[in-house]
Amino acid sequence: MSNLIDPQAKPLPSLSARHIDPHSYPEGVAFLDGQYLPMSQAKISVLDWGFLHSDATYDTVHVWNGRFFRLDLHLDRFFGGLEKLRMTIPFDRDGVAEILHNCVALSGHRAAYVEMLCTRGTSPTFSRDPRDAVNRFMAFAVPFGSVANAEQLQRGLHVAISDKVRIPPASIDPAIKNYHWLDLVRGLYDAYDRGAETALVLNFNGNVAEGPGFNVFCVDDGKLSTPAVGVLPGITRRTVFDLCAEAGLAVAAADISVAALRQSDEVFITSTAGGIMPVTMIDGVPVADGKVGAITRRLMAIYWQKHEDSAWSGPVRYP
Ligand code: PLP
Repeated sequence: MSNLIDPQAKPLPSLSARHIDPHSYPEGVAFLDGQYLPMSQAKISVLDWGFLHSDATYDTVHVWNGRFFRLDLHLDRFFGGLEKLRMTIPFDRDGVAEILHNCVALSGHRAAYVEMLCTRGTSPTFSRDPRDAVNRFMAFAVPFGSVANAEQLQRGLHVAISDKVRIPPASIDPAIKNYHWLDLVRGLYDAYDRGAETALVLNFNGNVAEGPGFNVFCVDDGKLSTPAVGVLPGITRRTVFDLCAEAGLAVAAADISVAALRQSDEVFITSTAGGIMPVTMIDGVPVADGKVGAITRRLMAIYWQKHEDSAWSGPVRYP
């Protein structure tokens, strides 16, 4: 990982009393070009390749009740993406973690959505060679957001299965968390056109893949499965595997056909933005009896309990 650390790196800006006024950061706090800023002032050049070519990687971790959930796993995935994209940032893992802690602490949020990201940046000479670009690291903490709202968490989401195909792994390694979302956004419009609330799209084999910002699971005869290929290896997805291991539930990554998903006993989606969220309607047809399933409910409960467990979460360093 040492190739990611710039020896010329400026020391981390430290928190000063001047910074610590939550009222000056009502929406959240960003870290950009070495400074902590209110979100409204966090802006980048339109010439940044992150914007022009979607040449960027990112990760999102959440804070719940003042605690980061599985921050180490998010840092692993972020640094893995940087390495695969050959990007360098002037901070190591501890440096990035410190910036994330500072963004949350400065925002004062106890429940936050915390993003770290790196764009290819811009080349000082406008060169078309990505190696000439100066990579740009940013981070921010904003209020916690969820794919499903309170009502949808209670009664389950209504989902449509779009025929749009998620960008295949042969094009983009889905383990590099990225902003290539045109397939997902087009899927969302398909869903809205059909009166659904969100979408699932297909993988390159025509099986179910994932949705805008989430993975999907189904439960059949007490066994869980989630699509194996062509999806982001979500940290919440991984957490479901870990929770199943503890709870003695069988879970596997496998192909899930559209027909199989429709016939499942239970369906739920997983995301850092909301955790484990039930799905009770697919393309206007109820999943089983149309109620949130027992295994889904059980996993939702344990998932949130783990947010207080120091093996799974750690306190934000508020001043
Ligand atoms: N799939 C996609 C395309 C995503 O963007 C995300 C999260 O943003 C997920 C799945 C869920 O991943 P995680 O559980 O790590 O939030």
